[in-house]
Amino acid sequence: MISVAIDGPSGAGKSTLSRKAAEKLGYIYVDTGALYRTVGLKFSRIGADTELNCDINEVLETTQVDLRYVDGAQRVFLDGEDVSDLIRSPEASMMASAVSAKPEVREFLLEMQRKLARENNVLMDGRDIGTVVLPNATVKIYLTASAEARAKRRYEELCEKGVAVTYEDVYNDMIQRDYNDMNRKTAPLKQAPDAVLADTSVNTFEQSLELILKIIKEGLETK
Ligand code: C5P
Repeated sequence: MISVAIDGPSGAGKSTLSRKAAEKLGYIYVDTGALYRTVGLKFSRIGADTELNCDINEVLETTQVDLRYVDGAQRVFLDGEDVSDLIRSPEASMMASAVSAKPEVREFLLEMQRKLARENNVLMDGRDIGTVVLPNATVKIYLTASAEARAKRRYEELCEKGVAVTYEDVYNDMIQRDYNDMNRKTAPLKQAPDAVLADTSVNTFEQSLELILKIIKEGLETK
């Protein structure tokens, strides 16, 4: 099986680029951020805030997260309910960042991700795919862009979806999440030594897509 790992900070265009690249390659696209967002939603629902002052394992014992593919698109289910749209709010992003720092949560989601890669050709995006989840991935890419470029993209994306936010809030949330993701003890966001760096700051979507497909093609040729 072929596995492509794409890691990087939020807003670098990972999910839109990965989805498109996977479609072109005929691989399954796995958005692992959606899994952490779903677990975050569960904790919100039981009344936890980002401090997570509760028994994490006890909550996880009664949590069911499933990924399903409907017409080729990934949908994520929490305890049987399709929450794919609910998990996209800025609050859900912050809860995802909070739960993702917990080793119990990372462990809870690890096998599901590895199983998908064992059984399918995948393009999986996240923060620790090349470093922890799939250390032997066929191709690894670290996708990034300047904080300003990333915040601008995320802001425009949320505005398009009709979410009421300001650019400043999006920028500040992003810096906070980057800090959390890069400085947590378990599986921090970092470039794997064998990952190819792709900076999309000044690229159009098409240019970034071309770049990623080129890196994947070259990576596959050397295997
Ligand atoms: O990619 P996305 O922004 O949807 O991810 C939401 C949050 O989930 C990230 O800020 C990060 O804290 C966490 N995450 C993670 N590891 C992954 C994917 C996401 O810790 N592989």
